[in-house]
Amino acid sequence: MHDFEYQALPARAVFGAGAAHTRLSGEFDRLGATRILLVATERERPLVDELVAPFANRVVATFTGVRQHVPVAVAQQARELAASVGADAVLAVGGGSTTGTAKAIALTTGLPVVAVPTTYAGSEVTPLWGLTENGRKTTGTDPVVLPRAVVYDPELTLTLPADLSATSGLNAMAHCVEAFWAPRRNPISSLVAEEGIRALATGLPAVVACGDDLEARSEVLYGSYLAGVALAGAGTGLHHTICHVLGGAFDLPHAATHAVVLPHVLAFNAPGAPDAARRIGRALGGGDPVHALRALGTQLGIPRGLRELGMREDQIDEAVALVAATVPADNPVPVDAAALRGLLRAAWAGEPGTTEEEQP
Ligand code: NAD
Repeated sequence: MHDFEYQALPARAVFGAGAAHTRLSGEFDRLGATRILLVATERERPLVDELVAPFANRVVATFTGVRQHVPVAVAQQARELAASVGADAVLAVGGGSTTGTAKAIALTTGLPVVAVPTTYAGSEVTPLWGLTENGRKTTGTDPVVLPRAVVYDPELTLTLPADLSATSGLNAMAHCVEAFWAPRRNPISSLVAEEGIRALATGLPAVVACGDDLEARSEVLYGSYLAGVALAGAGTGLHHTICHVLGGAFDLPHAATHAVVLPHVLAFNAPGAPDAARRIGRALGGGDPVHALRALGTQLGIPRGLRELGMREDQIDEAVALVAATVPADNPVPVDAAALRGLLRAAWAGEPGTTEEEQP
């Protein structure tokens, strides 16, 4: 056993089918909040109106200007609305972009956030925030953005289409996989990550086969919660660095980018992290982890390469330069520009990289 540090975070989680209808009001009672700002997309507006009906008298405004990767201008509009209505708490109902907008409000105002996730992003239990400006994504860590309570209700994920369920679930998978070599890796996060991988790998095929399967939806939502906890505890490494660069620079869809890139980073890092590879493989059902992850991606029907997400081949060099500037120092395998180019070229094309040995 190596020496380690582990910072447990005070994120409160309430989990259950129907919980968003029955438990939200009590969470605001706990906070003593009487002037709640809602954050949701237009798509979620009818759902949110229904959820807050029991305490509608405490809701003072709704912000629906959510955009992917939280542009700075959007954050500013949301903060101004919070100030103008004198909000004393924020309720975010939606995916990672919605949670991220609520976090951006909390970052400058200190307002407490209650989150109700409707995807598998895992953002709702991390103190990480992200903002985008001029094609560059800035991320940071601040305990003030960590939601005070999270209400997990698998019923709200029943409407998530199969393709988004698959990519969002693999975004959560990426948090778990990367927790094994991220800078603050520790035995607790690894334990959580391994169980997260197992839950996601078990539930996702059933969710994609039948979106109404509430049991499978619950399993995947549980896995995404564990994924967020693993990410918060261990931090991020090469995989998240690559995906943040690609998302910020080329406006690629966040979850799908993670889903496409993950097997390539796992294949790249596995030789330098044999214990991680063994545990990831075990959680995926046994055998070679890269092969198992690729097989899962194929079964879930995820896009093959970044080119299918709209990235152009002539953007690979720019991506290499941007990632090279922020590559984590202690990645299990040394990363230079040539290695990065090989990895990104393979992820772009959707083919195994030159350093990989394909399994039968
Ligand atoms: P998203 O929030 O952008 O949502 C994707 C799409 O799904 C949207 O069109 C949304 O309206 C729709 N949607 C959401 N829930 C739905 C449902 N139940 N049914 C039908 N449609 C639904 O995507 P995301 O992948 O959840 O989040 C991505 C963002 O989260 C990125 O900005 C990423 O950086 C951030 N993120 C942050 C962290 C963190 O710890 N800070 C972790 C993971 C992701």
